[in-house]
Amino acid sequence: MQAELVIIGTELLLGEIVDTNAQFLARGLANCGINLYYKSTVGDNWVRIVETISRALSRSELVIISGGLGPTEDDLTRAAVAAVTNRTLELDVEALDTIEAYFRKRYGDRSMPPNNRKQAYLPTGAVVIPNRWGTAPGFILELSRSAIVALPGVPAELEPMFTATVLPYLQQKFRGEVFVTRNLSFTGIGESSLEELVKDIIQSQTNPTVAPYASQGVVRIRITARAATPEEGEALIDPVATMIAERTQPYLFSTTGQVLEEVIGERLTSAGWTLALAESCTGGLVGHRITNVPGSSRYFLRGYVVYSNEAKAADLGVKQATLAQYGAVSRETAAEMAEGVRAAAGADFGLAITGIAGPDGGTAEKPVGLVYIALASQGDTIVERHYFSGSRMQIKQRSAQAALTLLWKSVR
Ligand code: ATP
Ligand code: MG
Repeated sequence: MQAELVIIGTELLLGEIVDTNAQFLARGLANCGINLYYKSTVGDNWVRIVETISRALSRSELVIISGGLGPTEDDLTRAAVAAVTNRTLELDVEALDTIEAYFRKRYGDRSMPPNNRKQAYLPTGAVVIPNRWGTAPGFILELSRSAIVALPGVPAELEPMFTATVLPYLQQKFRGEVFVTRNLSFTGIGESSLEELVKDIIQSQTNPTVAPYASQGVVRIRITARAATPEEGEALIDPVATMIAERTQPYLFSTTGQVLEEVIGERLTSAGWTLALAESCTGGLVGHRITNVPGSSRYFLRGYVVYSNEAKAADLGVKQATLAQYGAVSRETAAEMAEGVRAAAGADFGLAITGIAGPDGGTAEKPVGLVYIALASQGDTIVERHYFSGSRMQIKQRSAQAALTLLWKSVR
């Protein structure tokens, strides 16, 4: 099956918003093994929308449209699909009921604005995709050689509608085949080094397929199997996942899609250990990630953002002599920060980060991107030195990731 995306919205062409829908849909299609060959973005313009949908239908079996299902003048998707497929727009009574019910539920007695009625008119033969997250119903229109799926542009509606209705529809269209995916997540290794470790596995596999990808500091390997049942799919994936895990064990932190801070949280919770943080160049980013995990209060005691030398000395007991002799960004200061925060909080682990995020403040001896990370635990303090590249934000993110990686390696 060959698929194509048509993303509608002038805002996208003006660069006002990021096209997260295309990313979400592309990933969803990749996950179920459907080839996506084209993606077009078009503004809220009748002629260009009609032209774009026609072209998509002429070359793709599955056309997924995002946006333009709202109640206003510039929401043209329904009419454009009807025009391209030579159909009329018909009132779908059930869709209208649902929209009215949505307004009643949200606004009580206040009745639905007349404009919203428009959203219940769908091309003849279209099947409604229910929208429990907003007003605009989506629809699926099957044609002789292809199908059109139309979803509202609001990501908080498009995403759950795709998952709840479109994915099952696509799987059933594949005549009983299911796609099962498993994500292996890695930290402390780059995408290309990881690929090097498992290159032969990637190349030799056809079912399941194995593909590495990277996003936001996390490198993943996605294993996708086609099978008659989910159990069969899992069984195809198991040996390949085991083979990959054996080779990548020092970096593999999850096979279930968890983020690193969740894995750390589970480990700290089950061991009954506690954590305190001392952050300089990351400005609280590690604390933010740790506290993104529900239940983190069980193990996270406190975090200091000690940006100045005075704070490092006053709050954590870093010695003036250490700061004077080695500087704030040094192995010695990092170690004293970690030990100091561990003692101040009475925690099992004290994790500290100090570095130069740039763009200014670097020297030949201590360049921008130099970051020390220290982890103090009972009777032991580990210090790592890193040289990160990138913008100020990237250096902060990479530092936070490396700090969590060090912690994970110690608690796993
Ligand atoms: P609605 O029924 O709410 O009017 P719609 O289908 O008409 O939805 P739009 O009017 O195009 O969709 O967009 C609604 C909202 O969704 C806007 O806030 C827009 O920023 C956001 N949005 C639209 N398309 C995308 C996209 N491709 N990626 C991310 N956000 C999007
Ligand atoms: Mg709209």
